[in-house]
Amino acid sequence: MPLHEGPEKPDERPMSVNPFYGAADPVGGMTEAPPKHRLPGAPMPPATAHQLVRDELMLDGNSRLNLATFVTTWMEPQAGVLMSECRDKNMIDKDEYPRTAELERRCVAMLADLWHAPDPSAAVGCSTTGSSEACMLAGMALKRRWARRNADRYPGARPNLVMGVNVQVCWEKFCNFWEVEARQVPMEGDRFHLDPQAAAELCDENTIGVVGILGSTFDGSYEPVADLCAALDALQERTGLDIPVHVDGASGAMVAPFLDEDLVWDFRLPRVASINTSGHKYGLVYPGVGWALWRDKEALPEELVFRVNYLGGDMPTFALNFSRPGAQVVAQYYTFLRLGREGYRAVQQSTRDVARGVAERVAALDDFRLLTRGDELPVFAFTTAEHVEAYDVFDVSRRLRERGWLVPAYTFPPHREDLSVLRVVCRNGFSEDLADLFVEDLAQLLPELRRQPHPFTRDKDAATGFHH
Ligand SMILES: *Cc1c(COP(=O)(O)O)cnc(C)c1O
Repeated sequence: MPLHEGPEKPDERPMSVNPFYGAADPVGGMTEAPPKHRLPGAPMPPATAHQLVRDELMLDGNSRLNLATFVTTWMEPQAGVLMSECRDKNMIDKDEYPRTAELERRCVAMLADLWHAPDPSAAVGCSTTGSSEACMLAGMALKRRWARRNADRYPGARPNLVMGVNVQVCWEKFCNFWEVEARQVPMEGDRFHLDPQAAAELCDENTIGVVGILGSTFDGSYEPVADLCAALDALQERTGLDIPVHVDGASGAMVAPFLDEDLVWDFRLPRVASINTSGHKYGLVYPGVGWALWRDKEALPEELVFRVNYLGGDMPTFALNFSRPGAQVVAQYYTFLRLGREGYRAVQQSTRDVARGVAERVAALDDFRLLTRGDELPVFAFTTAEHVEAYDVFDVSRRLRERGWLVPAYTFPPHREDLSVLRVVCRNGFSEDLADLFVEDLAQLLPELRRQPHPFTRDKDAATGFHH
């Protein structure tokens, strides 16, 4: 409501202004606290609303100090500007925003080339909201292909998907939502991810596929995708079962192509049917964008594909969502264009250098034992050394929080539940300088931690919540 009185006689022109434009009753905003759990009865001035929301968000952690997340927390200002210019474009409206659709198509082509699709023009792929959606789509394609091959037995037979117990939670979701049995290869001793032989042994005529992870969220290690394919080749020779592989490259599919060119994990392996990655992890884009690619049209059953209008014709789409912002896809294209292969290599190499350096310095503190060294994903996991009895990893995680650092502590899954670790995820933006500050803070905590009478953590489950 404006402060001045309107004319007695109603205005000739109908009111057509956006209610957001009116600074309604600025005094009200100063005297009444709005309800939190029901819609306020009346509007408030934008400055008041902005201040209220901002004040509350101050208590969120600082994303740059969040060493738990794989997701991009720093981009160049130009990328931020581009994203804000595109946030009003809906990705699904291919006909209205044909250039955005074209940029998405180019990103898919670039990834097909990067991941060595035998014929990049035959590869198919799409953007998603992240790897979780991409994994759902890839899993659906595997399931549909299996159901087609087994039309005489399905429904009836129960499909299964083979994976390491270290899979990211999205695969448990996939199996739950799409009614597929999750067959998990347990950890064993110092092997913290899938064993190719054990995976092949879990396969049978109802296996829709095997998931290989590049790399594991638990410790940053790459799973041996080539060995997995070889084990499945041998299985096919023995039994005739031809089981496709999906590579969950949420992080590693944007690291390995630049830093580990000799590692064969992608479409160079004929058994690899599909690959996903998170554009918002080492693809270096703010959340949420992911990518799913299939090696050729046979790998993605045609009946799963929907068509939307596009410049008078139609364009195939494959997605769980309908509407989605175009900004992230545009930012991905910008980053591809901006960095190129050399740029990505330089960024990922410096992140790996930071990870290896921090891992070494943590090991040198003498209280810790490294499980991984940051030389695959720029991520490392470590636990307390044999002789440390006064405190545990959960104490370390809690004390680091006092300095603003978020470092998750969690217990490993079955067969290694005795093992609890801390994990540090290095990302672009976690510079050598910040890394120095982190190691200094950790070192300064040690004298106090060593003086504890015993580990203080009681509720270990509560501490494990945030490592994915
Ligand atoms: C992060 C991650 C996912 C889930 O990806 P989102 O992009 O967060 O949906 C799946 N798999 C692996 C291996 C991951 O690291």
